[in-house]
Amino acid sequence: MKIATLSIGDELLTGETVDTNASHIADRLYDAGGRVFKHLTVPDDVEAIAAALRELAGESDVVVVTGGLGPTPDDYTAQAAAVAAGTELELSQGALAHLARFEERIKGGLHPANRRQALLPKGCTLIDNPLGTACGFVVNISGADLFFLPGVPYEMERMLAESVLPPLAKRLPAPWRRVTLKLFGIPEAAIAERLAGVFPENSPVQLAYCVKYPEIHLILRSAAEHAGLLKEAVEAVRERLESFVFAKDGETMDDRLALLFRESGLTLALAESCTGGMIASRITAVAGSSAYFLEGNVTYSNEAKTRMLKVPAELIEAHGAVSSEVARAMATGAREAAGSDLALSVTGIAGPDGGTAEKPVGTVYLALADASCCLVERYNFQGDRAGVRSITCFTALDWLRNYLLTLHGKTGRN
Ligand code: ATP
Ligand code: MG
Repeated sequence: MKIATLSIGDELLTGETVDTNASHIADRLYDAGGRVFKHLTVPDDVEAIAAALRELAGESDVVVVTGGLGPTPDDYTAQAAAVAAGTELELSQGALAHLARFEERIKGGLHPANRRQALLPKGCTLIDNPLGTACGFVVNISGADLFFLPGVPYEMERMLAESVLPPLAKRLPAPWRRVTLKLFGIPEAAIAERLAGVFPENSPVQLAYCVKYPEIHLILRSAAEHAGLLKEAVEAVRERLESFVFAKDGETMDDRLALLFRESGLTLALAESCTGGMIASRITAVAGSSAYFLEGNVTYSNEAKTRMLKVPAELIEAHGAVSSEVARAMATGAREAAGSDLALSVTGIAGPDGGTAEKPVGTVYLALADASCCLVERYNFQGDRAGVRSITCFTALDWLRNYLLTLHGKTGRN
């Protein structure tokens, strides 16, 4: 079945809005066994929309269209659909009833302009919108079914799941299987080297690399009948890339770390300088983190490092705030202050100023203290201020993950 998608809206072509609808629809269709072969984006213009509808209807079995179903004068989709189908707009009684139901729920009633949303192409089939005023609809043009959905992502997603995918799934082959392994800390080229021979040419299991900096996602796919081979390939990838794989499918680094912490029963404190609390924010974003996270210190100034973490002023004077000595003292100091099992510290130069020849922008020290020792390492990260801060944060989380994995002999496998 040939499936195309069409996104409508000036804001998608000016760069103001990222077209998340197109990727969501393609992703959901893929999971249902379909594949989008073509995608177009057009502005809020009747002629442009009608031309795109005719083009896609002529070469597809199904077209999923989003945007331009609203009540404002720049919403032309229904009109363009009527033009492309060679019909007219008429007041849809079903859409009027939908608006009336909405009106009851809304204080003060609907704006009269909303009535415009009940003007739909003659003979179309309505698609219920449980979350908004704009009904969706289906029109057949040149033998293709065109599904029209609103542009608002959460309305569109619900309608796609409830009213578009179920009938389409009946017409689609068994869905392909897909496993995503998420990696950190190893470049693409090194991954490819380690995976040499795992995916021979013509292998029924396909591998795709998807860089979502700083993560690298390996997407393994196979037809349903090769599910066994897919499982073997996933195992082979895991074997060759071991601890670089931090999560699978929908799981994130934060989720995985939370799970490992809960399993370990250990507690954590943080001392952050250049990340300004970002690490604490990521850790506390996961529900239940109070079970293991005790406190985070944002010790930005030297004085704060000394006052809150008991880092000796002379140590900072002698080695500088960005040094292995100070990182170590921050971690041990934070551990002492919190009475935690572990403490992690970061101190670095995020830039754009503050770099020297010896310690350029991107120089970051991480330290991790437990009861018996304190690991310290220097990194030279690339990138602008935001980039250095985010890679530092991710690296810190990965440090904690690796520490907990080692501690538990890798029982916490994802
Ligand atoms: P409304 O009733 O809100 O007018 P609509 O069907 O007319 O709905 P649009 O006016 O095209 O939809 O867009 C409504 C909102 O949804 C806007 O904020 C727009 O930025 C967002 N939106 C539209 N299309 C997309 C898209 N393809 N991806 C992500 N967001 C989108
Ligand atoms: Mg609109």
